[in-house]
Amino acid sequence: LARAKNVLAGGVSSEFRKYNHPHALFYSHGSGSRIYDVDGNEYRDFTLSQGPLILGHSHPEVLKAVHDYSSKGQLFAGQHIMELELAEKLQELIPSAEMMRFCLDGSEAVQTAFRVARSKTGKSKFLRFEGHYHGWLDNVCFGISTPSPEALGPRKAPTPSPWSQGLPPDAINEFHLLPWNDLDLVKAKLAESHHEIAAIITEPIMCNNGCIVPKEGFLQGLRELCDEYNIALIFDEVITGFRIGLKGAQTYFGITPDMSIFAKAIGSGYPISAIVGKKEWMEEISSARVIHAGTMNTANPTVAAAMATVSVLEREDPYAKMFELGDQLRAGLKEIAKKTGHNMIVSGIGPIIHTGFSDGEALSEFRDVLKLDKAKLGQFISGLHDDGVRVIGRGLWYLSAVHTEEDILFALKSVEKVLMKMNEK
Ligand code: PMP
Repeated sequence: LARAKNVLAGGVSSEFRKYNHPHALFYSHGSGSRIYDVDGNEYRDFTLSQGPLILGHSHPEVLKAVHDYSSKGQLFAGQHIMELELAEKLQELIPSAEMMRFCLDGSEAVQTAFRVARSKTGKSKFLRFEGHYHGWLDNVCFGISTPSPEALGPRKAPTPSPWSQGLPPDAINEFHLLPWNDLDLVKAKLAESHHEIAAIITEPIMCNNGCIVPKEGFLQGLRELCDEYNIALIFDEVITGFRIGLKGAQTYFGITPDMSIFAKAIGSGYPISAIVGKKEWMEEISSARVIHAGTMNTANPTVAAAMATVSVLEREDPYAKMFELGDQLRAGLKEIAKKTGHNMIVSGIGPIIHTGFSDGEALSEFRDVLKLDKAKLGQFISGLHDDGVRVIGRGLWYLSAVHTEEDILFALKSVEKVLMKMNEK
């Protein structure tokens, strides 16, 4: 850690600084559902490198594809036939993906979707939701943990979140921010401001603060409002894409957005994202009204990784198993929390699980998630880490296609040990 602090700003990643985990975390390699630190300790990995490793670490087909295509030379930016093949494959799989363009990561693809929305509607602002995260570029950094004025009541102004520090003051003025899952508030906001709103962006399942599914009718309601007011509906599927199903959460919930963003899992850890959407919106890029550049986009090894990932997921269809294991993990976590007397809130859907601690009632909304006890969560995550189980700092667990029941049982045993130890303190 001392060595890193000397050369890497902050030493460790923001994830660990933010949650103050007392670990110097450096890993040397990973395989399947396990990773190994530089001292040779093994961990069951439920972080999957912040999500991308839907096939686990070092999947042989992904590695082989990357190797094979790397050895054919590195071709970038729309010149490799495989980019076309990948696009055709995604077009076949995802109903809203009439056309697409690839970028390197989720943040860039979100940015492109905003440009498209602005260009086609001629409007300039966006509506986004509390607790949702859409990347770390200046104009989307605002508001991950920031309650909207509606949530706080009329007297208080929203506090800028840690993500917004260092942003130009104008950045936050690009957005209207509302609590999620409240269609009446969206209706009221659009009635007054639709003339300036180019797009509504939402995670179809809120995964960045707890893991909360949309209320019945909420996404459909957004769809109808966007149609009524000439507003782009953008689904940010950076987490849910390929994870809830190969066709994304949009197919799971049966809602067709105008544009959506796929990243993380699509490349199994290689840097590739996609902005996909209806032709009428994506035409803004075809017509060159919206620039889409990027020297490093669609290098053939990353496209090869994505092709291999899609092909394994299509062939093996691991989703029923991932949903089953997710249910087993959630049920086990709830049972242990009860047994050990902890008010641990367990939420999620399928292979996305969230754990948080609260002194209050069961939580279901983001406003309640704000009240979660970060110190307790830190103890929990650190305790698990010491016991060989890695979970994302904010309490998020991901399952891959290669996690097994044995991994779940191992983790649950650890959870019980850690929660009992927390009772002793
Ligand atoms: N959107 C969502 C929903 C995300 O979770 C993230 C990353 N955690 C992003 C966008 C940004 O993606 P990236 O980190 O690949 O730029």
